Amino acid sequence: MTYFPNFNPKQISSKAVQTAQDLIKFYDLHGMPGKPVDLTKLLDKFELREMELPKTTWGFTLDVGYKIVIVINQALSPELKRYVAMHEVGHVGLWHPNQLHSCVVGKAEYDHLENEATMVAAYLLVPAEAVAEPFTLVRLGELAECYSVPSELILMRRGLYLSTGV
Ligand SMILES: [Zn+2]
Repeated sequence: MTYFPNFNPKQISSKAVQTAQDLIKFYDLHGMPGKPVDLTKLLDKFELREMELPKTTWGFTLDVGYKIVIVINQALSPELKRYVAMHEVGHVGLWHPNQLHSCVVGKAEYDHLENEATMVAAYLLVPAEAVAEPFTLVRLGELAECYSVPSELILMRRGLYLSTGV
């Protein structure tokens, strides 16, 4: 099973990558390569809630004026929860124009905003060191475990995830 059937790397703007790099720098996210990225400082800026949601709804973001609430489907694995949280941070960081981002998996139309938010998550959660040379797909599972991310994110970060959709 693939979690990201409609991801299209061609739709990623340089703005998305730059925003991710700015967040990494500002929150010093990649100071400890070889371990899961510590998201505490970044997530302090948000209110994180886990809730029972429909299976296909992984999470959403609510701007309630004085704070931004990120809601995550409580049934997801720890790796997917980390991913969803950073995907939502991606939407917020890129000033995507909806007040409510409902992020549903397996949607037929995976628009460029979703792609960008996913790419921001890949950059935030996977340090450059993780995909540096010598890179081999044999280590994919090991890297995913080491950084506590879905393995697709490692591939996206490396520029190898080229899903054409279903
Ligand atoms: Zn989304």
